[in-house]
Amino acid sequence: MTERRLIGRTAAPGLASGRVAVIGTEQTVRRVAGAPADEAQTLRRAIAATLAEVTTLAGSANGEAADMLGFQVALLSDDELARPALAAIAGGASADSAWMAAMGAEIAGYGAAEDENFAARTADLEDIRDRVCAHMAPGGADAAIPDGAVVVGADLPLSRFLSIDWRRGGAIVLTRGSPSSHVAMLARARKVPMVVGLGGSPEALAGHEALVDAGAGEVVLTPDAATRVRFEARRGTAAVAAAALDTWRDGPGVTADGTRVAVHLNVGDPAELDGLDPAICDGIGLVRTELLFHGTAGLPDEAAQYEVYRRIAAWADGRPVTIRTLDAGGDKPIPGVTVDDESNPFLGLRGIRLSLRHPDLFRTQLRALARAAVHGEVRIMLPMVTIPAELEAARRMLDESISDLARDCVPARRPMLGIMVEVPAAAIAIDRFDADFFSIGSNDLTQYVTAAARDIGTVAELADPLNPAVLRLIAVVARHGREVGRDVSLCGDAGGEPKLVAHLLHAGLRSLSVAPAALARAKQAIAGTDLRHPPP
Ligand code: PEP
Ligand code: MG
Repeated sequence: MTERRLIGRTAAPGLASGRVAVIGTEQTVRRVAGAPADEAQTLRRAIAATLAEVTTLAGSANGEAADMLGFQVALLSDDELARPALAAIAGGASADSAWMAAMGAEIAGYGAAEDENFAARTADLEDIRDRVCAHMAPGGADAAIPDGAVVVGADLPLSRFLSIDWRRGGAIVLTRGSPSSHVAMLARARKVPMVVGLGGSPEALAGHEALVDAGAGEVVLTPDAATRVRFEARRGTAAVAAAALDTWRDGPGVTADGTRVAVHLNVGDPAELDGLDPAICDGIGLVRTELLFHGTAGLPDEAAQYEVYRRIAAWADGRPVTIRTLDAGGDKPIPGVTVDDESNPFLGLRGIRLSLRHPDLFRTQLRALARAAVHGEVRIMLPMVTIPAELEAARRMLDESISDLARDCVPARRPMLGIMVEVPAAAIAIDRFDADFFSIGSNDLTQYVTAAARDIGTVAELADPLNPAVLRLIAVVARHGREVGRDVSLCGDAGGEPKLVAHLLHAGLRSLSVAPAALARAKQAIAGTDLRHPPP
């Protein structure tokens, strides 16, 4: 086979090589049929596992989500659902091929129904089909992706990204996708090379050996010997450059003219802090707690959340730890919590809007945070705040939670309560928000100011934090913080982009929060900024 070179866009730099595993198609037939009795047992176990999963989700859902999950629970509990597949298995089919075929017929029947309510259920059935199928992959859903594979797809759902163990290497190549999506952001944080916008069909890459130079946006399929040698040489050079950059990691953030800039860390999973010395940063500027809510174990309860927050506070060793309340929605759906059929999820029920609609879920999180505040300087940050009433409602709920904890003699402390500034309405009228601190979410602020969605690659060029409209809003918020004496930081990805750092500091920011993987280059960029001269 001859070598083929494809060009896309960088979403997360880095080099990786491996065999392509196409996501989506691994849902199709992949098991070889065993004895019919074993195949039938495989299917029954997968249905039981899915039923347990969906029942857990249904337990904490309400509204439309509860209705949808209730329908799925009823279907999965009905022996009739598996009957056609079991008949095919008795005839020699493998469990997954029988299931896919039977569900295909069932879904087509629902889709063709005159009754609109029936037709609308096809998505629920597709979801059940895929969940059960994933449980039939040898070893479960994750086993469908071999270690170190180059994962290829049209797009990659956040939940799928989180289910893959990237410590074993690998890369992501998407035919669509966007460099500013949440998956791209996590890929950068976890140093998973990622290329987006390749075009064409993912299936065309299936089964090939691939070299990915994500920094150059390049994917080489079936590389020849000379290309492999050049690739390995580039890998060596990159490792040397990374080691040189790392020397910037430990010192404080200081500009060329001697101005101190606080540099905090963004974390999604406390494991990202393992092996890191807290002295390399000024604290934690953002914990994306919604990532704790992904996975099959259901929504974490107060004790589980408390344990995670406590662990991060203990790691920080007295430094401030800013923990953001659940920011689900947009491109971070959580089954059973977020709304499935919004026409424009980024403008819908996400962040604080969603938490206020799920008071039980929100109260659980506030209680866990107030309890963790006993172990360090925990601060609570609300995402997607648009109007002051949202901050006030959250404050009232926090007060109530603290009183409840005191009444029950549970040790707790009242954390500071701040807001993310990522909706233009908040940035423009920042003086209306009586928050204890502010943190600018440049990712969302940029997408909303430029009307260019962060998950749509074709408009990625417009979603530019250097747009003067974005920088002016950042300057407005920084000035307000100085005037009222409250902290202003920036926790969007812009803080870890060397070419943006000087502009952010010139806009008045003196505090940034970046992914651990971006810490060294942020400090290097700060050291290269001279505030006595305009940015380049
Ligand atoms: C942001 O919007 O800049 C931000 C930090 O939040 P997230 O990327 O999680 O939406
Ligand atoms: Mg945001």
